[in-house]
Formats: sequence, C-alpha cells, structure tokens
Amino acid sequence: MPNFDRYFLMKPADAAEFARTKLGLFPAGARLEHAEIGDGNLNYIFRVRDPASGRSVVLKQAGGTARISDQFKVSTDRTRIEYEALKIENELAPGLVPVTYGYDPVMNCCAMEDLSDHVIMRAGLLTRERYPRFADHITTFMVNTLLLTTDVVLDHKRKKALVASFINPDLCEITEDLVYTEPFDDLRKRNDLFPQNREWLERQLYEDETLRLETAKLKLDFFCNAQSLIHGDLHTGSIFVRQDSTKVIDGEFAFYGPAGFDVGNVVANLVFAWANADTVMPESPARLAQTRWLEETLFEVVEGFKRKWKALWRERVVESTARTPGFAEWYLGGVLRDTAGVTGLELSRRTVGIAHVKDLTSIASPPHRIRAERLCIEMAKRCIKERERITTGDDYLELLRWAAERHPRPA
Ligand code: ADP
Ligand code: MG
Repeated sequence: MPNFDRYFLMKPADAAEFARTKLGLFPAGARLEHAEIGDGNLNYIFRVRDPASGRSVVLKQAGGTARISDQFKVSTDRTRIEYEALKIENELAPGLVPVTYGYDPVMNCCAMEDLSDHVIMRAGLLTRERYPRFADHITTFMVNTLLLTTDVVLDHKRKKALVASFINPDLCEITEDLVYTEPFDDLRKRNDLFPQNREWLERQLYEDETLRLETAKLKLDFFCNAQSLIHGDLHTGSIFVRQDSTKVIDGEFAFYGPAGFDVGNVVANLVFAWANADTVMPESPARLAQTRWLEETLFEVVEGFKRKWKALWRERVVESTARTPGFAEWYLGGVLRDTAGVTGLELSRRTVGIAHVKDLTSIASPPHRIRAERLCIEMAKRCIKERERITTGDDYLELLRWAAERHPRPA
C-alpha cells in the first residue's frame, strides 16, 4: 500500500487507505467500503464508509488536468482553496456547507461531510421537485459569506491577507474565458451552439457591439474588484438540497471578486429551471405550480438577499467611512448591478459555451429547445445592457415574462 508521501491519482481503494492512515478518519482495523462517485468536470470524488460504525466521508482529489478536457491545465492548489473557503463558509454560514475533516497538500485531497442524502439541485428541479427552504438558505449563505468578507467588515490587514491566500489564477482564467469572453466572440472556436439555433444565436451574441462593450466592462470588474470572498461557481449543480436543507459544495473557484457574481449565478440558474419547466411541461396545474414556485424563489432570492444584506450591514459594518449617509445604498447598488450583469453572462455562456446545463440540453424536441434557449438569451442581453436599473425581484420577473412572450411555446 502507498504511504501517500508523493502525489498520485488515487483509485477508490487508495482513497479508503488514505482516509484511514493519512487522515486518521477511521480506526486501524476498519473494513472500509469505497467508490468513486464524481460526475463533475474537474476532480475525483470518493465515498468511503465504515459499515461497522455507519460513518462515511467524501474525499475530493484534484488531478492535474480537467476530466472534461485535458485542454484545461488547472493548478492542484484549487483543492487548498476549496478547503480554506469551506472552513470560512462553515464559520460564517454554519449548516449551509459540508463540514470539513481534513486536507492533505501532498495528495491535493480534502475530506468532508458525506451529503449522499441530498440531491444536486439541478437534477431535483428537472424531476419537478420544489425546495421551500432554498431561497431562505441561499440568501443567508450569500449575505453572510459575501458581506462578512468585505473591507467594510473585516480588519483591513486580515482582508488583504485573505485576498492573497485566495489568489486563484487558473480557475479565474477559466471564468474569464468561458463566462466573460467566448460567449460574445468565439475566439477559440470552442463554443458549442445547438445547430438548429446557431444562426440566431450567432447574430444575437457575436454581432452586437453594445453587448460586447458592456461585457468587456463587466470583465474588468471581475479582474479588479476584490470585494468579497466569492464562491465563484454558484450554480444549481454546485448546490445539494433536501426539502429541509441546502448545502453549497464545489468551492474551488473561490477568490476575492465581485459579490454580485454569486447572486447572478443563482438567479440565472433559476431562470434555466424556469425555461425548462415552462417549455417542457404540458399545460397543467403541475406546470403552473412549478413555474410559480420558481418565480417566487427567484423573487425571494433577490429581495431576501437585499433585506438580509441591509440588516447585517447595520449590525456588522465597522469601517467608519462606510457609515456616511448614502454609502450603504451606493454599495448595495453596485452589488445589484453586478448581479444583473452576471445573470446575463451566465445565461449566455451556459447556452452557447462548452459547459452546458441539462435544463437546456435535455430538451429533446428541437423547437422546444430553441424556444428555451432564445428566451434565456433575450433576457440575458437585457440583464447585461440594463444592469443599472435592474434591482428588484419584480424587475427580473418582468424581463422573464417579456422574453417568454416574445418566444411563445411551440404547439
Ligand atoms: P467537480 O469540482 O469535479 O465538479 P464536485 O465538488 O462538484 O466536483 O462534486 C462532483 C459530484 O460528486 C457532485 O455532483 C456530487 O454528486 C458528488 N459529491 C461531491 N461532494 C459530495 C459530498 N460532500 N457528499 C456527497 N456527494 C458529493
Ligand atoms: Mg468543480
């Protein structure tokens, strides 16, 4: 058996041995069950369980290249980043992320709470589940992790040290390329457009100069605005849910960036879920219930975020100049503007980029998929261009209804 003093990509049996001997998570004689359970794009995920005690853990190990494509060479330091971010999130938003059990910098592997009794939210939404606690949980997670890591709350030297420790150039580069650049200019020819919708998409996204200018401005903000410790990939595939529980996972994209990035990702992925339900489900009370719930959730994500942000601001902001009348509103205004912009970016990049969402790709009938894609892109463009004025839950719902009416459901 290896002694784990040199990095290698583990097999499930190695992972069990590693959890027992290196991390000390199981007793010496335990007969451990082990399996690889990952379905993600980048990493290897193992579940190790001791049937005698019922105790189980999940291990996440980074490989040197992404699983989807060895085009992406990504630093294995991302596992440290994910682990450090998880520790901070556990402090700031307890119960909303997996508990961590350890990290090993040689094997680039971190151990965390086994959440196998949860489901990935995107998958749950596609089977038409609803999660009544989600909006409340995710707004608490975002407000606590985003506001409490800013300059207006933290000691300034500690904040700067955090910025340094979360410098994450490889993962940021993926976002810079896939989210901010390629959806609007297929520079590397690696976008992946649904063929029957290609011409329309190309016209909407590649031939709109105003759109390109606005996305360039947003990209600069992603480069420069070290505002909050953000999750950096907060889509419904990075969120585990149960009726009564929400857990944010997969924090390897974490870095100091614009707070609105996370909020915009959540909003956009609710729009994808809505586009799927509204397009695919036959007219029925079930469809109405599902789309209504998604609308209410979207509304509450935006409004709950604002409400909790303002309350926590009053409680926790210590930076003296931030107490200047008008400053709090100005600051939140910036976060909301970024939220709208990123909503548009995420809607665009998941429609035409290489990392798609099942909400769109699982739509088997071409006219239906075209309709769902078009409504997302119409909404995306307005979110980007009109981001200054999009500040309320109703603003998003109005845009969603407008886009859906422009592209009625095929018969
Ligand atoms: P990647 O970064 O490679 O995308 P993720 O962190 O998203 O990896 O994990 C991939 C999959 O592994 C998840 O979609 C989920 O099915 C499973 N998984 C990840 N973390 C846990 C956990 N703590 N408990 C149970 N399953 C998990
Ligand atoms: Mg990941």
